[in-house]
Amino acid sequence: MNSNPPLPDSFDVVIVGSGAAGLYAALCLPSSLRIGLITKDKLKKGASDWAQGGISAAIAPDDSPVLHLEDTLKAGAGLCDRDAVQYLVENAVTSIRSLLEMGVEFDRHNND
Ligand SMILES: Cc1cc2nc3c(=O)[nH]c(=O)nc-3n(C[C@H](O)[C@H](O)[C@H](O)COP(=O)(O)OP(=O)(O)OC[C@H]3O[C@@H](n4cnc5c(N)ncnc54)[C@H](O)[C@@H]3O)c2cc1C
Repeated sequence: MNSNPPLPDSFDVVIVGSGAAGLYAALCLPSSLRIGLITKDKLKKGASDWAQGGISAAIAPDDSPVLHLEDTLKAGAGLCDRDAVQYLVENAVTSIRSLLEMGVEFDRHNND
């Protein structure tokens, strides 16, 4: 027997993929929209569930987006799109704040 609720006949937006990008996109859309999120496998299957290291967000007072830009380009060994990395490091702090406001429980040092 199928215990899932019936799906709506239509959606305003359909997002493909249940990784961080798809979920964040869904959370950023107006709640008035009917949003469908589809994925090819289990909800948690994807790179987002494997990531467990750092985020290129300069949140410490002695940190800087320029350092994250250089570090990411070095680690990327020539494969990174510089403009994309620059956009990421310059906007990461705003995104982290937004995720905190949404209730994401990041690991913390000394409750900071
Ligand atoms: C081992 C590992 C460690 C990492 N560590 C870090 C880290 O420390 N810091 C960091 O910033 N980044 C890290 N990354 C990179 C980071 O995980 C990815 O950049 C990020 O998760 C990408 O998110 P995404 O939502 O675009 O993709 P994903 O999380 O991969 O989501 C893709 C989604 O699309 C779905 N999908 C794919 N094809 C189809 C299809 N044809 N039809 C329907 N659905 C489909 C998948 O099922 C999945 O739900 C790491 C990656 C890996 C693999």
